[in-house]
Amino acid sequence: MFGAVIHSPGDVRYEERPDPVVIEPTDAVIRTVAACVCGSDLWRYRGLQAVPKPTPIGHEYCGIVEAVGTAVTSVRPGQFVVGGFLHSDNTCAVCRKDAQANCLHGGGFAGCQAELIRIPNADGTLLATSEEPAADLIPSILALSDVMCTGWHAGISAGVGPGMSVAVVGDGAVGLSGVLAAVQLGATTVIAMSRHSDRQAIATEFGATHIVAERGDEGIARVKELTEGIGADAVLECVGTEAARLQAVGSVRPGGMIGLVGLPHGDLPTTELFWRNVGIKGGPAPVRAYLPHLLELVLARRINPGRVFDLELPLAEVAEAYAAMDSRRAIKVLLRP
Ligand SMILES: [Zn+2]
Repeated sequence: MFGAVIHSPGDVRYEERPDPVVIEPTDAVIRTVAACVCGSDLWRYRGLQAVPKPTPIGHEYCGIVEAVGTAVTSVRPGQFVVGGFLHSDNTCAVCRKDAQANCLHGGGFAGCQAELIRIPNADGTLLATSEEPAADLIPSILALSDVMCTGWHAGISAGVGPGMSVAVVGDGAVGLSGVLAAVQLGATTVIAMSRHSDRQAIATEFGATHIVAERGDEGIARVKELTEGIGADAVLECVGTEAARLQAVGSVRPGGMIGLVGLPHGDLPTTELFWRNVGIKGGPAPVRAYLPHLLELVLARRINPGRVFDLELPLAEVAEAYAAMDSRRAIKVLLRP
């Protein structure tokens, strides 16, 4: 089979790789229906994170089950499935607290931008649909593999609830998903911080009530204007850079909460947060915890997180997908074998 391999910054190749097979009795192998490139894949592509050797890449997927190990009971060959960017057994003491991203027996993926994918812990990772979903739902289902659940995790981590004001820092696929999550969780003031008209349009479609294009102190001042002069009840930080984290700190009200889901690059002024009684929570999303509810909303066509995909390419053109996202010609690229 073929799949994407990153060799060095800027160098992603579509190469022949060994067919994944069932190794552990708890494994499944799926044939990819759709995969995509994540903003977090770009850290390596841009040379901001080391690539010590050629490495299969990609961690978002949906597909059809090809084979399962003898211990797998919840999915069977032929079923359409989606799973998160981390695998989990969904049974250990940590998973039972709905913190599946930190499963005691879990781990990450490498190489999901490929024709076939081995899924460890299949029962605790994958969710099957009762029938093959309509073709137009595939992008929204794929978005649940990472970005939508990550945006949702930002909202849950920040305690977003009915009537609250929420500012979202970041207008990438996760930030836009954070807007959608905040609206779904009942926030009534949802401020999308974005300078790009195409992304502003999606944020508005997702239910953002205000767009703030300014950044830095001006951006903070605009958020305060929209929140009785004090800042937002909750801020979803969906980028991870130091500038974005400081934007979040400046935009939250005293006693408010920051949901952090951007991969952390740079410090947070924890002393300032202490004196302002601001809470911080976040991290990698426990996708398996959110997947049942969000898949239901997608299948009922109540949310359309797949809107974040604005370019679709054949999987064989994965190198172009990276280039398009790196140069911001695309928000997020969907890949089909
Ligand atoms: Zn677990």
